[in-house]
Amino acid sequence: MTGAMDELRRRAYLRAMGIDLWMPLAVALPPAATQGPAPAIPAPMPPPPGTETAWEEVSAPILEVVAPTSVPVPAVPETSPRPTQPPAIPLFEDPATLDWDALATAVAACRACGLGATRTQTVFGVGNRQARLLVIGEAPGADEDREGEPFVGRAGQLLNQMLAAIGLERGQVYIANILKCRPPGNRNPLPVEVEHCQGYLARQVALIRPRVILSVGAISAQTLLGTDTPVGRLRGRWFDYGPAAIPLRVTYHPAYLLRSPEQKGKAWEDLIEVARRLGAD
Ligand code: URA
Repeated sequence: MTGAMDELRRRAYLRAMGIDLWMPLAVALPPAATQGPAPAIPAPMPPPPGTETAWEEVSAPILEVVAPTSVPVPAVPETSPRPTQPPAIPLFEDPATLDWDALATAVAACRACGLGATRTQTVFGVGNRQARLLVIGEAPGADEDREGEPFVGRAGQLLNQMLAAIGLERGQVYIANILKCRPPGNRNPLPVEVEHCQGYLARQVALIRPRVILSVGAISAQTLLGTDTPVGRLRGRWFDYGPAAIPLRVTYHPAYLLRSPEQKGKAWEDLIEVARRLGAD
């Protein structure tokens, strides 16, 4: 594709994100062995005077890889009515020891919480297992539950456009969620569900060893950072995530951006910082 075609395509992505103005390319991602040639990164628009965001390194609490403990299933007297849903079956295997195949198998079979009874299928994650960028969302929605892949609905289409705006195709990054199963009615994940699922995600992070994590949305950011601070106050700075101190950036969830397109400019600023960080490593 010619440079002119590239530029037209980037402008289309930026238009789709609601970003009208941008400047010529200045930063390029270095080539990664597994990810093909380095995509070019558009330089950010300078923020309006007085709105510069200070760079700040903040240590985040570590999401521990906790081996889920086995919980005894209470004995049901023979006279009890039969439960309408199968009970959650505790998880016995420690995800921290699993390779990719074993991890995928464990997730597919997981019944550690009640979502095992309501999901259509688990949604493990998708993309390049040697990705330099790991995107972490909240939980599968109805589309993802049906297709078994994260971010395939409208929010997923916007996520693809957001990634494309910094020169990354969906297949170059890895995309996962805090939860592997859809909460019914798209309700927020329960603490017990997050607790049972966190070992799987922590293992994915350890296997991928990404250069940068992009955490999208409140549930993702607050879970990963162990805080209840709103997203609007978590974005705009770098965190160190986990034992490997992986640089983590927070941005708005694409579903929120679909409802509040006026916030797309801020998401664009976040993406530019992610691209810069990837380009710097
Ligand atoms: N929202 C998310 O957070 N994850 C998905 O996979 C889909 C929608």
